[in-house]
Amino acid sequence: MTSAASRAEVVVDLDAIAANTAVLRERVGRPLMAVVKADGYGHGLVPAARAVLAGGADSLGVAVLEEALALRAAGIRAPVLAWLHAPGADYAAALEADIELSVNAEWALAEIVAAARATGRTARVQLFADTGLSREGATPADWPGLVAAAARAQSDGDIAVVGLWSHMAYADAPTHPTIGAQVRVFEEAVAIARAAGLTDARRHLANSAATIALPDTWYDLVRPGVALYGLDPLGGDAADHGLRPAMTVRATVVLTKRVPAGVGVSYGHTYFPESETTLALVPVGYADGIPRAAGNRAPVLAGGSRRTIAGRVCMDQFVLDVGDDPVQPGDEVVLWGPGDRGEPTAQAWADVLDTIHYELVTRVGGRFTRRYVGSAGAV
Ligand SMILES: *Cc1c(COP(=O)(O)O)cnc(C)c1O
Repeated sequence: MTSAASRAEVVVDLDAIAANTAVLRERVGRPLMAVVKADGYGHGLVPAARAVLAGGADSLGVAVLEEALALRAAGIRAPVLAWLHAPGADYAAALEADIELSVNAEWALAEIVAAARATGRTARVQLFADTGLSREGATPADWPGLVAAAARAQSDGDIAVVGLWSHMAYADAPTHPTIGAQVRVFEEAVAIARAAGLTDARRHLANSAATIALPDTWYDLVRPGVALYGLDPLGGDAADHGLRPAMTVRATVVLTKRVPAGVGVSYGHTYFPESETTLALVPVGYADGIPRAAGNRAPVLAGGSRRTIAGRVCMDQFVLDVGDDPVQPGDEVVLWGPGDRGEPTAQAWADVLDTIHYELVTRVGGRFTRRYVGSAGAV
């Protein structure tokens, strides 16, 4: 046995997250809202939040209220915006916790106004304009009505409109014609809101790709997520943008065996070694967030060499064909990481699986343990 390392762990480099934040904050020279939704893109909600704040983030963004409340429960006091709410959401709890709320529609605004009256607090609200993604937000047809209702609620003292915002469909294709179109719709939406007296709201539009590639979309603050974790939203090499991947996914070989040429490997025998070889068993599978589609496709680093997963990924385990390499139980297998040691990156996995690194880092979990290295934001 060559190591006592954990069976399966996700190692998160907090200093990389802080440094990536600082690089982006420096580049844009204006406030940065760090998106830490989805458990900090799989890096851990609270540690990721502390690391981005250590790196100079000015505020935090999350999708759902539960995430925002978890940040407050951990003692994080930075401004937090939460943007995805179901009818009947516990807005009173959000207001008590001083969480900013995004609003897509007049009916949702009415619920927030009711919570403001019930709690005696002024709700800090950001109005979301649908400028062409056709996801969250009010369409150009619904926007004037939402703005008028918000202006009334603001003059009644129930809410303060602190943000006007939208989200882009194609920022990862920086020359796409929808970009200029969305900017124009956004600027019209801002003009309508300002004309209605919502003059204190800050404007924001830029996700990671726009933060890197589209300075015309930076407005009053930027709102990156994935780039903070060191992944290139444009699908290239993160190092070209001064970013470093923060996540390493590793496991330990639990069994090796010599087998003759031609044995069928794993369920359905989709892999047959061409000559006598060593098979190595790796104790992670699709229940741990390793896509089943990675079988016979995804690369790993094992025994100092790149190997492709041999045969199907099972629920709990997969197999590698390591040839005549002296791989032993206890040896490390790296699925993805920053790439410095020759291991694949999450981008390399995304390329062979026809997905995006976002999906890989946010779904890895299951029985992986998480270990933090670096000190940024550590308490
Ligand atoms: C997830 C999300 C972001 C961050 O996107 P990245 O591509 O990870 O930078 C920003 N804004 C909204 C509305 C989001 O849903």
